[in-house]
Amino acid sequence: MTQREEFLRTIGYGEAAVAQLRRNENAAYPRNYELWYSYCAGFNHALNRAVNDILRSKGRIEADELTAIYNQFISPSRLSDRIEDVGGRISGEIEGVMAAVNKTISANATYAGALSGASTELDAGPNLSRLRGIVGELLVATRETEKINRELEGQLEDSQKQISELKESLESLRFETLTDELTTLGNRKHFDQSLERAVANAAETDGALSLLITDIDNFKSFNDSFGHQTGDQVLRLVALSVKQAIRGHHLACRYGGEEFAIILPKANLSRAETLAERIRESVKEKELKKRSTGETLGFVTVSVGCATYHAGDTVVSLIERADAALYLAKRAGRNRVCTEALLTASREDA
Ligand code: GH3
Ligand code: MG
Ligand code: MG
Repeated sequence: MTQREEFLRTIGYGEAAVAQLRRNENAAYPRNYELWYSYCAGFNHALNRAVNDILRSKGRIEADELTAIYNQFISPSRLSDRIEDVGGRISGEIEGVMAAVNKTISANATYAGALSGASTELDAGPNLSRLRGIVGELLVATRETEKINRELEGQLEDSQKQISELKESLESLRFETLTDELTTLGNRKHFDQSLERAVANAAETDGALSLLITDIDNFKSFNDSFGHQTGDQVLRLVALSVKQAIRGHHLACRYGGEEFAIILPKANLSRAETLAERIRESVKEKELKKRSTGETLGFVTVSVGCATYHAGDTVVSLIERADAALYLAKRAGRNRVCTEALLTASREDA
């Protein structure tokens, strides 16, 4: 894409963003502009859905709604803000429960004191008129203690609800910290942690484990021709092909810019190769269309390297073989799958 084309494309988003600021009478602060620019460019789907929901129900967006959407979908610190918020609410819950427990303990101690006082008085000998007084005092003390115990029960029930909600928030945060935003596949951190576990498990159980590394062919020139945002859409499309090809116990992650790694527990090399072929076929069948204009952009292809776990393998040695097989696929002309079996063959050829 030439500089002029990039200028025309982005100025279009910019003008549309300013039109939205006007229409919604939002202050033209950089943050509000950024939000509307992202909306008009359309690459942040979750943001667009949130904005559209409000527009559909109310026709326009107010400043506080804009701030909430910005914080949820754009703010660079949104994850740490939410972690802090959940952490603060958990501390609040714990403090509330501790206060109620302390109040109950002290009420129970007072009650025990009242009982022991009554017992001492009764030991001193029967005095009918005092007896009535003692029973009355004990009744009041018992009711008071019961009330405080009920309060604690209520507080514990309430806390249980709050804590299970907080648990869900933490789980969704954990999910987000392990997810690649663009493709919604696992991110690099998820991959590193999972492969470590999978290799340890294969070593322990002597089970099968394979790894695919997939790389989009000539992606740089695709980006250069059609722009980074169209490139991003292609990344999403390839991720979709990967997702459709794999099963629930497989894990696909964005390994690097335009590289995807797929961990295949229980799969031997031949099964891994079949899956890799399925991914390769599915990507090459999808004709790319520019969403904004419907313009046809042709096809992209991927190359895939497959490796399988052998006794003594480490995460590093397994990745190295998958990478080396990928390199062979590239050297052999791209749009193909190569397995580690070809590595020994190519070494022997050399
Ligand atoms: P090869 O067939 O050898 O893999 O060639 P290639 O052009 O795909 O490889 P190269 O590693 O030279 O280029 C990778 C390109 O991927 C560079 C960059 O333009 C693009 N890329 C990496 N990450 C992203 C991303 O997040 N979004 C977009 N749009 N492009 C990306
Ligand atoms: Mg690459
Ligand atoms: Mg590439």
